[in-house]
Amino acid sequence: MSPEAAEKKVYDLVILGAGPAGLTAAIYGGRANMDILVLEHMMSGGEITSSERLDNYPGFPEGISGIEFGQFLEKQATRFGAEIISATIEEADVLGDIKKVSTSKGDFYGRTMVVATGTAPRVLGVPGEEMLRGRGISFCATCDGPFFRNAKVAVIGGGDSAVKEALYLTRFANEVFLIHRRDKLRAVPFLQEQILNHPRVQILWDTVVKSFYGEQKLEKIIIQHLKDSTIAELPVDGAFLYVGRIPNTGFLKGVEMDGKGYIITSEEMETSVPGIFAAGDVRRKFLRQVVTAASDGAIAAMMAVRFLE
Ligand code: NAP
Repeated sequence: MSPEAAEKKVYDLVILGAGPAGLTAAIYGGRANMDILVLEHMMSGGEITSSERLDNYPGFPEGISGIEFGQFLEKQATRFGAEIISATIEEADVLGDIKKVSTSKGDFYGRTMVVATGTAPRVLGVPGEEMLRGRGISFCATCDGPFFRNAKVAVIGGGDSAVKEALYLTRFANEVFLIHRRDKLRAVPFLQEQILNHPRVQILWDTVVKSFYGEQKLEKIIIQHLKDSTIAELPVDGAFLYVGRIPNTGFLKGVEMDGKGYIITSEEMETSVPGIFAAGDVRRKFLRQVVTAASDGAIAAMMAVRFLE
């Protein structure tokens, strides 16, 4: 152990991220009497807190609001003793016996670590996107949808998120355009059925965004139809981007990842570094859902217990 680490508190388990994976790891680790620190830069609950409703988590027949679910997770994790600190993770040094995490609130140490930092929204990288972010361009329909009452909005993407949030936006907006680059949606059939039959949603198939335009705030989107290459203007008040996600692993070195930056783990959530586990959306996996994140978190925590034993 370095002299620096010797002076500081060393937790049994440091969990990076307070989403369903991280907080489930905290619940399981806490019940196993581990001394646990959870680091999170946003509110507890992770990405699901920006979803209006969580409809497919077992045990909630009527669904539950994303924010409430996050609050429940936090309450449960702290009941079992986890300490949660709000901090931005800058770097993780995972190779020694004692793992060190550098954050905006200082350095923290653990004997084991669960990386559960999830993913962040992917951007399109087209002109106007960065400039108009927060001025008509949004990545969160639940947060910003109510600002677009009786307005015209576009949603970009064809996956579960884009379709689910486009449907949500019909509560506020008069007209919703779904701009998708292919002629088939990626979303599950249940969501597809709803959107294909919605009278206030128009799907622009085989269409991509070339740029966003607006003087002070978003005024129009320049779109291109891929089949005939025609360019057109789509006047809108808001645009919601749901074109997939990228893993939050930029702070992490020395752990094996795939070409996209997802952490490679065993079925038991072990990474390539002993004592470092990964759980939830941040790892390479088949199904990224709240229920699978929670399951990963439970396994990761029990593996951390076993590692310390
Ligand atoms: P996703 O499934 O990866 O879908 C991303 C969509 O964006 C795809 O339709 C993709 O088009 C499109 N896209 C990607 N890059 C693009 C680009 N540069 N320009 C234009 N379009 C682009 O992402 P997601 O919808 O955020 O979902 C992420 C994960 O969460 C998935 O596993 C999903 O099942 C899960 N999820 C589940 C629920 C639920 O209610 N169960 C809700 C939300 C999310 P292509 O189709 O052509 O690739």
